[in-house]
Amino acid sequence: MKPRSSAEGVVVAAVRARTPAAAAGLAVGDRILTINGRALRDAIDFQFYGAEDRLALTVERDGARRALRLVRAAGAELGVELEAPRPGDIATCANKCVFCFIHQLPKGMRKSLYVKDDDFRLSFLHGNYITLSDLDEPSFERILEQRLSPLYVSVHATDPELRWALLGKPRHSAEILPRLERLAKAGIRIHAQIVLCPDLNDGAHLERTVHELAPLHPHVATTAIVPVGLTRHRERLPSLRTLTGAEAVALVDTVAGWQARFLPRLDSRFVFLGDEVYLQAGRPLPPADAYEGFPIAEDGIGLVRRFEDGLTSTRARRRPAVIARRVTVVSGTLYAPRLARLLREMPPGGVEARVVAVPNEFFGGSVAVAGLLTGQDIQRHLAAQGDLGDAVLVPAVALRDGDGVFLDDLTPADLARSLGVPVVAVEPEPRALLRALV
Ligand code: SF4
Repeated sequence: MKPRSSAEGVVVAAVRARTPAAAAGLAVGDRILTINGRALRDAIDFQFYGAEDRLALTVERDGARRALRLVRAAGAELGVELEAPRPGDIATCANKCVFCFIHQLPKGMRKSLYVKDDDFRLSFLHGNYITLSDLDEPSFERILEQRLSPLYVSVHATDPELRWALLGKPRHSAEILPRLERLAKAGIRIHAQIVLCPDLNDGAHLERTVHELAPLHPHVATTAIVPVGLTRHRERLPSLRTLTGAEAVALVDTVAGWQARFLPRLDSRFVFLGDEVYLQAGRPLPPADAYEGFPIAEDGIGLVRRFEDGLTSTRARRRPAVIARRVTVVSGTLYAPRLARLLREMPPGGVEARVVAVPNEFFGGSVAVAGLLTGQDIQRHLAAQGDLGDAVLVPAVALRDGDGVFLDDLTPADLARSLGVPVVAVEPEPRALLRALV
């Protein structure tokens, strides 16, 4: 990892009213330089040093420094939101992973999408996966000192040679097991991930990786196996393939067998398989309790189960809508058939929801999930669908956090203008979907 020098301090993005931060006089745009005499490098330092109840802040505003005092009741929220780090402040990787999604992006997209972040701070704050492959000693020590836990680590393989090859043979690549052992010894919790590439790290390699990680449980809390995603933009990249249907079926069985063996030994299933594999295999998703609290749902492990169970129970509690309306619900091709079946079971007198599976022509290849749909694919596909009803619901996971734009910079408002119907972004959350539907 190449640590970049970041500007001093952290910048206030928002101050909530009637909070200790508002009472202290903090304002949007203030750069907080120190807390109780400790210089701040980033949002983690802000959390770490800002945990006290009495804080003396040095703040820079309009080029001048001022001192602010902030007092809060024990445990009360400070009421401050910080600006996200700029791309230049994020530590990036020196790897060239054979499956890297960023290398498979088409040219000409916005710059921030090409940032190959490998930053332990973003792993701790936002659950981004990091490789630890060239994490330097000061960063390692900081993780231990500030107890940055949990961290999300891309392992892919524990065999050092194989992992090095998967990471694209970088100049520096520390062995992963000793690094995980050091973190585990210090009590740092880790969620491990394996991006499964058929013919490279599957079969006996996968078995070795899973079984070399298992002794580190409970510190390595979970191991997620997710299938490689390939776009059609893979010119001059290593030749890779996706799982076949038969391999997906075999993998579901293999992982079920491992889970059954780990459960009595570790009191956890320990290894979990991405939702996509169950969908591809046409096999039932495990029940909710098999996801042990859904700690890695954001990585596509149990997201479908949680959504579908939530939809069923929320729907059962709701009275049928009195006003019938017709809506078009956009989904990726992988999940659309299940979603259509679920929505057909909506109570009568409610909603007529037509699910439209939008093929991902922008990325092409095997990309079939809703989160990578672009505005232009949705627009083109819906324009050919005839009557779209009273509204179009698009997956909010396809929009960039914060500014609500698709990966190709179109917005739901752009789609609404061209399609002539309101377009609403909906979170992948049962209540949000039901609210948007009725
Ligand atoms: S997949 Fe590999 S090359 Fe791509 S950003 Fe992550 S660590 Fe870097």
